[in-house]
Amino acid sequence: MQQINHDVIILGTGLAGLRAAVEISIQSQGQCDIGIVSKVQIMRSHSVCAEGGTAAVMRPEEGDSLELHSWDTVKGADFLADQDTVDRFVQTSPKEIRLLEHWGVPWSRREDGRIMQRPFGGHSFPRACMAADKTGFFEMQALYDTLVKYQNFKRYDECFVTSLVLEGGRFAGLTLFDAPTGEFYVLRGKALLFASGGLGNLYGFTTYSQTVTGDGQAIAYRAGLTLEDPEFLQFHPTGLVPSGILMTEACRGEGGYLRNNKGERFMEKYAPKMMELAPRDIVSRSEMTEILEGRGFSGPDGLDFINLDLTHLGADRINKRLPLIREVCMKFLGIDPITQPIPIRPVAHYSMGGIEADINGRTRSENIWAAGEVACHSMHGANRLGCNSTAECIVWGGITGGEIAKYLAKKPKSAALPDLKVADEEKRIFGGLLQQSGSENPAHIRRELRTLMDQHAGVYRTGPSMKQGLEKIAGLRERFKKISIQDKSRIYNTNLIQALETENMLQLAEVLLFAGLAREESRGGHARTDFAKRDDEKFLSHSMVSFNGGKPKLQYKPVTITNWKPVERKY
Ligand SMILES: Cc1cc2nc3c(=O)[nH]c(=O)nc-3n(C[C@H](O)[C@H](O)[C@H](O)COP(=O)(O)OP(=O)(O)OC[C@H]3O[C@@H](n4cnc5c(N)ncnc54)[C@H](O)[C@@H]3O)c2cc1C
Repeated sequence: MQQINHDVIILGTGLAGLRAAVEISIQSQGQCDIGIVSKVQIMRSHSVCAEGGTAAVMRPEEGDSLELHSWDTVKGADFLADQDTVDRFVQTSPKEIRLLEHWGVPWSRREDGRIMQRPFGGHSFPRACMAADKTGFFEMQALYDTLVKYQNFKRYDECFVTSLVLEGGRFAGLTLFDAPTGEFYVLRGKALLFASGGLGNLYGFTTYSQTVTGDGQAIAYRAGLTLEDPEFLQFHPTGLVPSGILMTEACRGEGGYLRNNKGERFMEKYAPKMMELAPRDIVSRSEMTEILEGRGFSGPDGLDFINLDLTHLGADRINKRLPLIREVCMKFLGIDPITQPIPIRPVAHYSMGGIEADINGRTRSENIWAAGEVACHSMHGANRLGCNSTAECIVWGGITGGEIAKYLAKKPKSAALPDLKVADEEKRIFGGLLQQSGSENPAHIRRELRTLMDQHAGVYRTGPSMKQGLEKIAGLRERFKKISIQDKSRIYNTNLIQALETENMLQLAEVLLFAGLAREESRGGHARTDFAKRDDEKFLSHSMVSFNGGKPKLQYKPVTITNWKPVERKY
């Protein structure tokens, strides 16, 4: 089987992966040979969809401070964030904003010419640097433009990574299916960065692109790396009904209201001070309470909704600051937010958990790092604040890129590649999965899984319902053994890729519910009606889940608390 060697492999070309590639190129003065892999064309990574902004303290002289950004993040995280990690994040993100400025991001500007920042949920100061409501798109362009100044990387677009091969606990290779050619080969390197993004498609109603299926988390987990805090899934308060397309938090940052079927701004009951701009977990729960108590609007397929009202903002503000939102509403629903309210409800959005990584982004394996949404450096704890994610991607893209460059400068040896593991993987996919002719359709299993997650792992959860969810997943995993993949060819086999994704999703769904069932408390994105209170005595700790052959194995790790002891969260 073909083997291709690079110094470093970056799995994922979103904001985290591209930022890391740029940093490695800068620090090695273009000498380091990088392989960057994406299962889609490079610019179709989900990061291009980021809308509202990127958080940083840019105006200490106007009243903001690093300490305040840290505090907002820690409190927003329901005190599960590691506070040393949060401090490093807030200290680094302003520099990253300036770097992106030099690399060409056309930030929106204030009258005085300085970078504009708008309010975002849970932040006590306007901190979201933005390029209208297309921030991620411009950040991706600027990073890619910067990277192409170096000639030291090779792109593997539309290549689907199926497994991580370790030798003696070190990274030895990634097995990969090249969709356009149908070839299966191994990418080898002295170091690996996971930058493979989130897992939003575990849910039916989600803001995420179809391709965001948590492959990186599943691959790492199966190879023996630990997943941290997987039960913390963020529901964004404003997903467009019925598609789930994100109506950015910037809609409320610009002054939008949430109204129930009586026309009331109900957030005054739940968060009288911050109202619509309370953190996402709180706003999502408030919306669900309104809907469950009959104050929502009835929507299609059980998707009852709340109104997001921008009509008082005026045409000028909407056209300048939220042009994408207006376009999407008009194209997808035929409504114009300048004059009509937008139907929205909580939607699966972001995974706070991920592959366990330390403050430098290093995993428990000596030559593997993780950055961006796939990673859990534990800076978002139980609930992430809006605009802190793109910022995290660029901050830890930069940090891990720097760490990897330092590591490679010491000229480490590649780990030996265990041929048997690679051959087994090829046999498993092309001999087994693709050839077998069972009675089950993997697309049906995927759809059922996503509906199940909406029902059993939603905004509100209970023990019995999560247990039932786990039983259903076990049933789907049994059925998955009997699938038949319709397309038997090797060229551009999207049926095969989707089946492999579904296999990953089934594994991660089990991990999420397994950790959720064990956490008998409510904290951030994990809200249980049978354990409605936060329990710091028992659960001020990170869930650590590892693969045990069959059932997941769960342990806990203490939270790093440096400055702030947990207190009640009031907004
Ligand atoms: C609609 C939307 C709007 C958002 N708006 C904001 C915002 O305004 N501010 C904010 O802070 N956050 C926002 N977020 C969140 C934020 O955009 C994401 O968390 C972040 O962009 C993730 O970036 P990433 O680099 O980790 O991964 P991604 O950009 O998701 O990239 C993942 C990469 O991994 C590759 N990959 C994955 N699996 C495989 C595989 N098996 N084989 C090969 N390649 C693989 C993909 O092809 C892709 O290149 C938003 C998210 C969404 C969905």
